[in-house]
Amino acid sequence: MKISQCFKDHQVISFEVFPPRKNATNIAMRPILNTLDAVKAADPDFVSVTFGASGNKPHMGTLEVAKLIKNEFNLEPVAHLPAAQLTRAQVDAELRGFQEAGIDNILALRGDIPKSGRVSEDFPYACNLIEHIHQVGDFDVVGACYPEKHPESPDVVSDIRHLKEKVDAGASQLISQLFFDNQVFYQFRERAALAGINVPIEAGIMPVINEHQIERMATMAGVHLPPKFVAMMQHFSGNKEAMRDAGIAYAIDQIIDLLVHGVDGIHIYTMDNPTVVKRIATATQTIRNA
Ligand code: FAD
Repeated sequence: MKISQCFKDHQVISFEVFPPRKNATNIAMRPILNTLDAVKAADPDFVSVTFGASGNKPHMGTLEVAKLIKNEFNLEPVAHLPAAQLTRAQVDAELRGFQEAGIDNILALRGDIPKSGRVSEDFPYACNLIEHIHQVGDFDVVGACYPEKHPESPDVVSDIRHLKEKVDAGASQLISQLFFDNQVFYQFRERAALAGINVPIEAGIMPVINEHQIERMATMAGVHLPPKFVAMMQHFSGNKEAMRDAGIAYAIDQIIDLLVHGVDGIHIYTMDNPTVVKRIATATQTIRNA
């Protein structure tokens, strides 16, 4: 099923998972299977699967996880496809795999450019990939967007202009980068509307549940950490459980406010953590159905 259908009559809820990695001694399947169990119970509109986002080589590929989501969990998968590290032939091979498996939805990305440079120049920007995907097959194509602008963009105006190019190329919905200040998202939504971007935009929410994630956030260019968030994390630093509970509560607070403000949907970055999914699903269930 194409996910654009979901946005027609309700606020969408979706989750992101990443393929399991192989550690030194075994294949770590348990986190993703437990996470998908929790995601299934949360009754989402779709589940997206990252592609090479963590840097480590995963044990399972995006296609395999998308098939698992579709066939074993009976949920709608969205496969991420970043082009910077793939040649046109490799992109086409991935697309064939998705077609054969009946995967109807793709999140088309340029991908990050590693310091060593990109493997291929075949798709300079995500808009080029989006156009290509539509030429190859009958997919729904999703694009990424950045409420605080993409770190490489000189300013928000050029960032929005390039976002409009992605929509014009055929992105039928957008999923946002994570953010911790909802006002930032509301302002972005207004800028997008003024630029004539009229496809649904899902708000990306990442519950921050440990010190490692906080360190990552601090190095992520351009993500504003509001004083309330910083104070909370400093206060609970060193107390694992309190930090997790506070991080989840902060995310739930953000989600409720976003739903009340009529967002098209919420996309939750699960980090393959079933506790996060369960807590958020429980806290927002009645609100979603209201
Ligand atoms: P683009 O839309 O191509 O934009 C990249 C930059 O180029 C921006 O600064 C943009 O303003 C600029 N630009 C665009 N078009 C033009 C143009 N015509 N001329 C000049 N400049 C232009 N990465 C992974 O590797 N794997 C994943 O699974 C993954 N999943 C993600 C999921 C989400 C929801 C998001 C928000 C990001 C994800 N990423 C992932 C990260 C993403 O690959 C990086 O942020 C990457 O740097 C940009 O990808 P993009 O598709 O947004 O690029």
